[in-house]
Amino acid sequence: MREADIVVIGGGPTGLIAAGTAAERGKDVVLYESKDQIGVHEHCAGLLSIDGLEQLQLSHLPSEIVQNAQVKGTKIFSPSGQSLSVSKKKPTALVVNRAKFNQFLYQEALDKGVSVETSSRIIGIHRETNSIVLNMGKKAPSQGIKCNITILAEGRFPRLNKQVNLPVPSRKSIVFSSMYIMKNLRDIDPEFVEVYQDQKYAPGFFAWIIPLNDRSAKVGLASYTVPASDFLNSFIKNHPIAKKKLENAVIDKRMSGAIPLGSYIRKTYADNVLVVGDAAGQTKPTTGGGVIFGGIAAQIAGKVASDAVTAEKYNSQYLSQYQKLWKKELKQNLKVMKLIRSYINSLSTRDLDRLFILLNKPRIRNKISESGDIDNQKTIVFNLLMNLNLWPILLSTGLKFLLKNKEKKK
Ligand SMILES: Cc1cc2nc3c(=O)[nH]c(=O)nc-3n(C[C@H](O)[C@H](O)[C@H](O)COP(=O)(O)OP(=O)(O)OC[C@H]3O[C@@H](n4cnc5c(N)ncnc54)[C@H](O)[C@@H]3O)c2cc1C
Repeated sequence: MREADIVVIGGGPTGLIAAGTAAERGKDVVLYESKDQIGVHEHCAGLLSIDGLEQLQLSHLPSEIVQNAQVKGTKIFSPSGQSLSVSKKKPTALVVNRAKFNQFLYQEALDKGVSVETSSRIIGIHRETNSIVLNMGKKAPSQGIKCNITILAEGRFPRLNKQVNLPVPSRKSIVFSSMYIMKNLRDIDPEFVEVYQDQKYAPGFFAWIIPLNDRSAKVGLASYTVPASDFLNSFIKNHPIAKKKLENAVIDKRMSGAIPLGSYIRKTYADNVLVVGDAAGQTKPTTGGGVIFGGIAAQIAGKVASDAVTAEKYNSQYLSQYQKLWKKELKQNLKVMKLIRSYINSLSTRDLDRLFILLNKPRIRNKISESGDIDNQKTIVFNLLMNLNLWPILLSTGLKFLLKNKEKKK
């Protein structure tokens, strides 16, 4: 049977980052991907914060990956069409081609010495004394591999977590998404991502127009109710503001996917095992973004796995430092974001509009622009809570939210 120090399952961004991080520390790393190629299936809008990319040492992406480097802010529309624009002076995010972004991470992982096996689905995982054995499907080049540590990065519907008694992201918290790349749009500002917060068009989430330039964009939404493509078609045809921009637009490409919004799983490590990315629920519950947070956790997983191999310590007690470290980086924001998502979803159309009117007051809007950050949302929440003008609506809607939550729990 083949042997390696570390085996990573899944060739998405988090698996590739974890594998590369461990390999550059001199470890023998093998990555298995079930699909026949890495970086061909695009199921993501590819909106990534520049600060987050810097944290992942990915701030100098080749120009052919970057589709728009001008995004400075977000324009959010309420159900009745109130709009709230928040922006910075400099660009804050890149829109990337996610297939090419994955190919780039793949090449980086290869350059760092990761050995990659495609068309290889791992279907079974079990522990032997001090090591772990992974078994592959029929089409795989060999039958199995033995290693000291495995990093599970299977994405939103993980199958292996349960085989090592680890939880999976709650199915109830998964939203389904449909997205088109569209050309020939009107009235699009390449500096602003547009967000349409309206339960009628996107139950449980929102619709978005992410500009590629002033004529083309990624237009999508996610919803708890399926099929999401029906909601997207209705949004494009009927939304009073969006339809004017989209009425002559043509669809260039269609994609779909699912996003876990329920936040992180309770335990992300076991003897010989670490879990990262969507498989660990390290996705932002407010925006559905999972590349930066998952990537940060993946870097930590790669380092901890590598240290474990050096120290020859593979038990869960040693590996628990992975969870401590990624929680130190991400927990507070993930918790706040989960609360914001549940709170927004609990608001009636009328309350959402009232809130928009207040947030649009120049002093509050400027504060949001100053402290708003797509990855660090706890700071903005703290600043808003400090604003006395918002207290009446926050108290009344907050009370309704608490009562609804209590009813749900019964
Ligand atoms: C429509 C949509 C838009 C999005 N937009 C954004 C955005 O703008 N910004 C952002 O940051 N995030 C966005 N996301 C979320 C982002 O795509 C995910 O968070 C991210 O891809 C998670 O990376 P991952 O490596 O954890 O999982 P994945 O990217 O899902 O990769 C998992 C990989 O593992 C492979 N695999 C699974 N099981 C096995 C197995 N048993 N054996 C071998 N291989 C296996 C799969 O084939 C897959 O390639 C979006 C998601 C969707 C659906």
